[in-house]
Amino acid sequence: MSAVGSVNVLDSAVQQLDEAAELIGLEQGIHAKLRKPKRALIVSVPTRMDDGSFEVFWGYRVQHNMDRGPCKGGIRYHPSVTLDEVIALSMWMTWKCAVVNIPYGGGKGGVVCDPSTISMGELERMTRRFVSELIEMIGPEEDIPAPDVNTNDRIMGWLMDTYSMQVGYSVPAVVTGKPIAIGGSLGRAQATGRGIVFVAREALRTRGMPVEGATAVVQGYGKVGGAFAELFADMGAKIIAASDITGGVINRDGLDTAALTAHVIDTGYVRDFPGGDAITNDELLAVECDVLVPAALENVFTVDNAGSVQAKMIVEGANGPTTPEAHRIFVERGVFVVPDILANAGGVTVSYFEWCQGLQHLFWTEDEVNRRMESVMVNAYNEVYACACERKIDMRNAAMAVAVGRVAEAIRLRGIYP
Ligand code: NAD
Repeated sequence: MSAVGSVNVLDSAVQQLDEAAELIGLEQGIHAKLRKPKRALIVSVPTRMDDGSFEVFWGYRVQHNMDRGPCKGGIRYHPSVTLDEVIALSMWMTWKCAVVNIPYGGGKGGVVCDPSTISMGELERMTRRFVSELIEMIGPEEDIPAPDVNTNDRIMGWLMDTYSMQVGYSVPAVVTGKPIAIGGSLGRAQATGRGIVFVAREALRTRGMPVEGATAVVQGYGKVGGAFAELFADMGAKIIAASDITGGVINRDGLDTAALTAHVIDTGYVRDFPGGDAITNDELLAVECDVLVPAALENVFTVDNAGSVQAKMIVEGANGPTTPEAHRIFVERGVFVVPDILANAGGVTVSYFEWCQGLQHLFWTEDEVNRRMESVMVNAYNEVYACACERKIDMRNAAMAVAVGRVAEAIRLRGIYP
């Protein structure tokens, strides 16, 4: 089962690939290869807890494909992480890197744990042991992890240090999303949210709608959703509702996003924010707005609620928020959806920049990082939009057609070993 809901996210991911394969007339052999991950590692992660006892966590790292370059993908800490989920997420990373045309394949990792019940010391020991178990699999030329749900720059710093201790010298390019002081990139922390802003702006433009005064709703006010909300508000949009796992808040005149972020930093939660009225997560998804951004977990839009979404467009910040059935309902109802692999690719794009900077030991200004990322995102959006218009298909199928086409081309050119 997936992290959220009863739909298996791996089935959804494979179904998306199957549709794209049919659309582009993909050869059977390459299609079969892409339906399976290249490699998957399951490890146990014994961790000494503060009271002297040991806990043993499950950990996973999956490499879906490396035909276009080393694997790239985040590490998630969550109680409902499963191998199927990590495989699906690694597959989506392959398409994401291909759709924005950066030279990576897809990978993903996860540890089954609840970080809210783990102390800082326990988290560090668990992370370091997990990384030691992955040591043969990761590396700057092979597989480069990054943050995902419940992991952050601090944890990436421990990852970098653990890998470096094992090989005997500092290897900043083994991980991205690390602190700036040890080789992180300026602009990385907000990159995914900023990329969603660029894509939402382009989507509004191609739909003939202005950004100024556009209304937006954000589910999941975390690293991605929080950054998106603040930056989209800076661009002139109105964030009218936002939520996290504890519930949401709505203000049709527009939430003060700087104050909401300060409230989340202070209290840890969106709930009880005084600048709006309380709203449940279910209600939030049905709020009438121009742009709805799911930025929490998978399987948010299902057959049960897709019919009640009142947004003109959905820009998918989270990975896999829409089940295949919900996708079909959105297409039928004419809800314009910018799919996850395109919409949230700003993070991996700046991760790529961080990796390049680390390998060159030459660092860019934040302005340069943001400008280059904007150009990658705008080009990718326009390529996918052109494909959608030309073939008269929806944006998800168009993004998949572009991405799978690129990966397939790499496989054809390399051939199958031996
Ligand atoms: P995060 O842990 O920083 O934030 C997740 C947010 O979602 C939190 O506010 C949490 O309270 C909220 N949430 C969790 N369950 C919820 C629920 N049932 N209802 C409402 N809110 C809920 O994680 P993040 O890094 O912001 O990642 C969010 C999503 O974006 C994930 O799907 C992740 O895979 C995807 N993503 C992240 C990045 C990145 O750079 N961090 C890049 C691409 C995609």
